[in-house]
Amino acid sequence: MREALIRPQAIAHNVQAIRQATSAAKTLVVVKAGGYGHGAVIAARAALEGGADWLGTADVDEALELREAGITAPVLSWLFGPTDDLSVALENGIDVGVSSLGQLAQVVSQASPGTPVSPGTVARVHLKIDTGLGRSGATPDQWAALCEAAAAAEGGGKVRVVGVFSHLSGASAEADALQGAAFALACDQARATGLDPELCHISASNATSNSPELASDMVRIGIAAYGVPVAGRFAGLGLRPAMRFSGQVVLTKRVSSGHGVGYGHTYRTTGEATLALVPLGYADGVPRHASSAGPVVIGGRRFSVSGRVSMDQFSVDVGDHGVREGDWCVLWGDPAEGHPSVEEWAEAAGTIGYEMITRVGPRVPRVIER
Ligand SMILES: *Cc1c(COP(=O)(O)O)cnc(C)c1O
Repeated sequence: MREALIRPQAIAHNVQAIRQATSAAKTLVVVKAGGYGHGAVIAARAALEGGADWLGTADVDEALELREAGITAPVLSWLFGPTDDLSVALENGIDVGVSSLGQLAQVVSQASPGTPVSPGTVARVHLKIDTGLGRSGATPDQWAALCEAAAAAEGGGKVRVVGVFSHLSGASAEADALQGAAFALACDQARATGLDPELCHISASNATSNSPELASDMVRIGIAAYGVPVAGRFAGLGLRPAMRFSGQVVLTKRVSSGHGVGYGHTYRTTGEATLALVPLGYADGVPRHASSAGPVVIGGRRFSVSGRVSMDQFSVDVGDHGVREGDWCVLWGDPAEGHPSVEEWAEAAGTIGYEMITRVGPRVPRVIER
């Protein structure tokens, strides 16, 4: 009665189209947060089919999930805590993003030291510079010391600095350009310290679409791979949404005019009407903020959520239209198929498409389209 239809072919298509549109030699596809709600392994395999060179995750456990599924492609993870054990990830060839001397020390100490008969692991790291986002990454003041410590660790055979990276704020084109300039400087500084990073990378979906000059050696593509619209050049690439979120009408009934609908009676029927009950609520990722606003399509016809979204269900006033129990109510999908877009929902809920797709709950089965 609930379904998130996942379309791996759309992801593969999107990645292929984006690869052709970027000058970067390599494309990393981000599959964090369960592949943005689509399923990490499904998304990863589809991305690789579309030509992705690298995969990216936030947590190392997310990266290990890919290894456990037999995926051998290079994987970069950029978020770990001071008490996390990275040894298994390092042994499995997961590259880690390193933002500080403390994180570098943690990685060096957790890479297996080796024995007379085994060489041990060389930790593969990407040093991260904070060029202005104010999140992770070393500040420009800390950068020289981080590069020197990494060069020393490389000299000791414990670490290989594979990359240098940063992340953009998207505050404005000017702000991103300033960050890009600071990044180019940081890459030069790293090389001047004796490091030889193969991959400098800063752009995610938005900058890859809007600021192609920042593409550098690799772009890290998340949201656009899943077909959620990104402004700029990508608008012309024909990217296809990779998720269709729907629920089956479980009950219909006729009610009289003025009937209150849902908690707080924030909606009332304006005439005799049929109410259709849909078994999706905020526990499933339907935002309560989209109460009486979120668009739906049932039987090819557009309606909207009527009244409050509750934990497990919401109602739709379908008036006199012939909606029946068992009909599918699509919340978002591919507009080319007549369904509302993720963006419309994001707007109705006062949020962004990222939050819509990553919040589809565990109670919703992911059905893979073949
Ligand atoms: C999530 C993330 C990305 C992908 O961003 P999109 O906007 O989804 O393309 C890239 N890089 C880092 C560091 C991220 O955390």
